[in-house]
Amino acid sequence: MGQATRTTKLLLDLGKRDQGGANTDKRAALDATALELTQARAFYIIDFFLAHADKLAERVSYYSEKHLQMRERAISANELLSWAEACTVVTQDHPDPWPGWNFSARFPDLPFAYRRSVIKDAIGKVRSYLSQRATWEKSGKKKGKPGLPGANDHPTLYQGTCELSLEEAKGGERFARLKVYDGKRWQWVNYPVVCSRYFQQRQREPAWEQQSPTLVLSKQTAALHFPQTKQIQAKKVKESKLDPELVTVAVDLNVKHLAVITVRQHQQIIETVFVTDHGLDQQRYRHLKRIARKQWLSGKPVAGEHSNQQLWRHVWRMNEDAARKVACSIARVCAQYPGCVLLFERLRKIKPKGASKSRRMNRKQANHLRGKINQYAREKAFLAGTVTVEVNPHGTSQYCARCGQLGERFSYRAGSRIKVKWGKLFWCPHCHYEANADFNASVNGHHSFFQEFHWKTRPKRSG
Ligand SMILES: [Zn+2]
Repeated sequence: MGQATRTTKLLLDLGKRDQGGANTDKRAALDATALELTQARAFYIIDFFLAHADKLAERVSYYSEKHLQMRERAISANELLSWAEACTVVTQDHPDPWPGWNFSARFPDLPFAYRRSVIKDAIGKVRSYLSQRATWEKSGKKKGKPGLPGANDHPTLYQGTCELSLEEAKGGERFARLKVYDGKRWQWVNYPVVCSRYFQQRQREPAWEQQSPTLVLSKQTAALHFPQTKQIQAKKVKESKLDPELVTVAVDLNVKHLAVITVRQHQQIIETVFVTDHGLDQQRYRHLKRIARKQWLSGKPVAGEHSNQQLWRHVWRMNEDAARKVACSIARVCAQYPGCVLLFERLRKIKPKGASKSRRMNRKQANHLRGKINQYAREKAFLAGTVTVEVNPHGTSQYCARCGQLGERFSYRAGSRIKVKWGKLFWCPHCHYEANADFNASVNGHHSFFQEFHWKTRPKRSG
């Protein structure tokens, strides 16, 4: 059993006014809302909870039905929430909040749903900060002191601040009703949305449980992000490993061959898929060369300013696109073999050192890309109930996949074999097996999972 999560996005229409987009006042209201909530969050994080850190660590005693006795547990987020409200908010029961902490006076008529979301955010942030600081203090290191939590976040729209009626409305008249702040007061405003069939389909899928959306604002766009969760039934790896019919899918991630996927059953490779990068590495290298040259020409970078934004964004999008596509091909292979286990090598970094700056940057990007492919492929495969296992990568590219002996990598240059570390081909001097080096590494992934050959578990030394 496990849980899969995904995000379904609904864009607010900020297009041209005469084409149905929101007007400028409405846009300004979104920014004002986010700003106001950030300030409210700052009130709770920086002022309130950090000043009362001991309350967060409080233990409460309760009566356990299971053990039939009084026990202790950490204070829950809901209890903290009501405690914080009692201390800072003016109500009939608590007409006088603590002096200096009067939230109601500082943020008059902030809707209570927003107030609660802000307090919950603050509790989460301060709690994680406190626990991080505690581990840092325990470690005794000088470096890596966790910084104070920031107040920025995407506001969560709980019930009472957001209404959506897409089902009844006709096309072109779809709106999201949000409670926003226009600088003076809080009011309901209708925002036109870009509602696609794709969004509606994803929203309606019964297996996915929908949670409260968050409002995500960027320079050009504004969107509602709906987190969705789904319960997934998956077998435990320990159980599947005992099954003689088990199919394993191993993936070797590389730079030029982005992924080499091999499928094995009954100790035989039954399918192989090579996913190439279609020249991505080369293209990215050229862009990075241009960036490196521009950086060199303009000298020392200005602090707090980003250079070459468009080029970097392009590189990022290229990587993102490639990662999604490769993850898709991996998931497609997995889908053909229900109940299979997906094997990834624990990612090693190809260290970017030496060579030119652009080459180092390109190496770094390639590492990023491999990480992304790994992550996306895991998520996609898990949706179909496929579990991923990380296997020991030691020597997967150096040892022979047929006999398990140490082999060598070579390449052809001008018709003659040269033995090099980065060679594209693999040769085993013991059984004279010759293959593509990435394929060999991918097959070794299965051996590593089943702990065969060189990956045998060594007997534990006693004493
Ligand atoms: Zn061999």
